[in-house]
Amino acid sequence: VKRVSKKYGKIAEPVKLAAVLGAGIMGGGVAYQSASRGTPILMKDINEAALDLGMNEATKLLGGQLKRKRIDAIKMAQVVSKITPTLSYGDFGRVDLVVEAVVENVNVKKAVLAEVEASLQEGAVLASNTSTISITELAKDLKRPEQFCGMHFFNPVHRMPLVEVIRGEKTSEETIATTVSYAKAMGKTPVVVNDCPGFLVNRVLFPYFGGFSGLLQSGADYLQVDKVMERFGWPMGPAYLLDVVGIDTAFKADAVMAEGFPDRMAHTDENAIDRLYKLERFGQKNDKGFYRYE
Ligand code: NAD
Repeated sequence: VKRVSKKYGKIAEPVKLAAVLGAGIMGGGVAYQSASRGTPILMKDINEAALDLGMNEATKLLGGQLKRKRIDAIKMAQVVSKITPTLSYGDFGRVDLVVEAVVENVNVKKAVLAEVEASLQEGAVLASNTSTISITELAKDLKRPEQFCGMHFFNPVHRMPLVEVIRGEKTSEETIATTVSYAKAMGKTPVVVNDCPGFLVNRVLFPYFGGFSGLLQSGADYLQVDKVMERFGWPMGPAYLLDVVGIDTAFKADAVMAEGFPDRMAHTDENAIDRLYKLERFGQKNDKGFYRYE
């Protein structure tokens, strides 16, 4: 990983202004991380309430640092001022790199990517934070597919060191270099991977969730499975992790994995993720998933 980052780091232009589309769990985290490491960022969503949630999340994280005396009030105000919430593409002509972090749906993403591409300057990089959808597929209707790649952060963004940088069929080396350099400027460890549904991490993680669902279908208790996996040494068990990820996001990602790997990932019977999704128990984002949050 280090060798690859160094190689790409040498030819990259630094990102002076970034943007993120979507102010949800991931968008808010990306905005916080970029701003707190010094790169100003525009955060665009389609409604004011979502923007408020994204800003609140960033302010909450900074408040925690202030309390622990890691930053002072001046630094906190400086970081907040580096995040510009917006409902329009008005300032996107000045942006060097955009991270798309809207809902995990191929049609929504394609529409949003085409829309934002039209507002960007020629050399700007467009990156998707998709968890599972093929980068080559997302690039199909773009005018500049060579300037498009995956930039896959993990949740929570401020705590998880890894970022997968995904090379689609037409992605240029310059695009990879700029994205790797931005990930490093954010204090992350980028790893460049090839394109396929789920990339590297989710190709490992989703079969694990599948195994967990299978255990529940055989009668296991999710509380016990979580406890056992914690004793095994993992920071949290699969049920709690699914609540953190968001059941809605996991449901959509699961469908992409099933389509991509039908022999291994498809299932016809309703599993625990499907059931919770139908019940609109989306995890921590709406205070109820496998667990209840009060
Ligand atoms: P989320 O539901 O918390 O947030 C999505 C946001 O996108 C919402 O605020 C919504 O209003 C906004 N949005 C929808 N359409 C939009 C548009 N046209 N323009 C601007 N904003 C729009 O979702 P999330 O969990 O943050 O996931 C976002 C992306 O990140 C997905 O592709 C997901 O797969 C990926 N991801 C999620 C996780 C995770 O653990 N949740 C981890 C890695 C990657």
